[in-house]
Amino acid sequence: VQGYEGRKVAVLGLGRSGLATARALLAGGAEPLLWDDSPESRAKAEAEGFSCTDLTRAQAFDGVAALITSPGIPHLYPAPNKVIARAYEAGVPVDNDIGLFFRSFATPDWDNFETAPRVVCVTGSNGKSTTTALIHHILEVAGRPTQMAGNIGRGVLDIDPAVDGEVVVLELSSYQTDLARALTPDVAVFTNLSPDHLDRHNGMGGYFAAKRRLFAEGGPDRAVIGVDEVEGRYLAGQLAEGAADDRVIRISSGTKLEEFAWSVFARKGFLAEWRRGKQVASIDLRGVAGLPGAHNHQNACAAYAACRSLGVGPKLIEQAFHSFAGLPHRSQTVGEKAGVRFVNDSKATNVDSAAKALQAFPRIRWIAGGMGKDGGIKALVPHLGSVAKAYLIGHSARDFALELGATPYEICETMERAVAAATRDAQAGEVVLLAPAAASFDQYPNFEKRGEDFTARVQALIG
Ligand code: ADP
Repeated sequence: VQGYEGRKVAVLGLGRSGLATARALLAGGAEPLLWDDSPESRAKAEAEGFSCTDLTRAQAFDGVAALITSPGIPHLYPAPNKVIARAYEAGVPVDNDIGLFFRSFATPDWDNFETAPRVVCVTGSNGKSTTTALIHHILEVAGRPTQMAGNIGRGVLDIDPAVDGEVVVLELSSYQTDLARALTPDVAVFTNLSPDHLDRHNGMGGYFAAKRRLFAEGGPDRAVIGVDEVEGRYLAGQLAEGAADDRVIRISSGTKLEEFAWSVFARKGFLAEWRRGKQVASIDLRGVAGLPGAHNHQNACAAYAACRSLGVGPKLIEQAFHSFAGLPHRSQTVGEKAGVRFVNDSKATNVDSAAKALQAFPRIRWIAGGMGKDGGIKALVPHLGSVAKAYLIGHSARDFALELGATPYEICETMERAVAAATRDAQAGEVVLLAPAAASFDQYPNFEKRGEDFTARVQALIG
């Protein structure tokens, strides 16, 4: 990274992105000062040859040019972070790896503007990873050089230097957009908004504000906005005001948007692109195996619009939809026996994504529970019609049971027992679905491990 040569830069949080930041700072000639509250994380950094500096002590920020924090560290809510508070008191700017990335990488190259690398950012409550991976896949099918990073598993400072004409696709969570001091994507995508992580952002207003930062500061050249919630409609209207009529592409799953200057929407299994009152393309999504359900049709619209913005044609995009394998742990079929399908949607960690999963199948043996979130699962009650029975696991099992009304349930506690009970009860034509509507941290290190456990138990039972 550029801009800190010969200067001290503090790095708080030594997970994957923190260590990538430390390496990038060193490579740019800066002196990184590393800290993490967890002794295990410090030991990992030390094993890599770094030394740690206690940033919680007074005067820790004397002579420090900036503090770079990791996305996992809450800074203000639910309680102010001590190190971050010290930095602000000492007048030291606080940033993250995304801000560093934009300031070092995405400076417009006016001499070489046509071929300069482009950055696409994807944010929203649900569908970020699927949309990011789909954009990346479409670009690959179209033969365009591309890399993806961010929340999807590769730190932004770990990517290789971009080549001419390359498109870097970044998945950004609200934890990443809220602090970055530079956010200047060429194309920015906002998929949808539903309540999540509200403790960290002090409510829905703070959560929306964090995501909206991607569209501030003059904003991206092109904004792809999901308008199925009021926040998206508001944002699209604000960005379109006084701008060229191709600045905003509105997308929807379910609503016709023909009256807008540019829109992409999915209805009854078909995607349609409309421009200035005319339909310019249509794609049949019904047989696209990697993108099942209305929620994935929304992701298809978002990826389509982003790739059209980068000059990819509808035919190539359609071809790429068909070769997209989908991502593990998102509506992923992991087995089938005697007419019963087993679906791993471990990534359904919040109520909205679980609701989408419950609407995707007609009759469900539903495995749910874990570390429940604020508000419980009350909002799921209207979607329980498809649930033959719930098999409840984890910390929230009893709380969830109280919200289920007339839906039959069984408290299973563990994944092993839940998979066994659901498999025992399931009839031909039903789906055994893991869609927890809860975080995994009570029983697993992350949602991937939870999904792997489900898959292994299913495979052990059905062979
Ligand atoms: P994110 O990266 O935003 O968490 P993912 O693509 O990983 O999004 O999907 C997260 C969860 O939400 C999965 O359970 C998935 O099935 C569901 N999902 C995917 N796309 C959408 C969408 N557009 N709207 C609602 N839920 C979705």
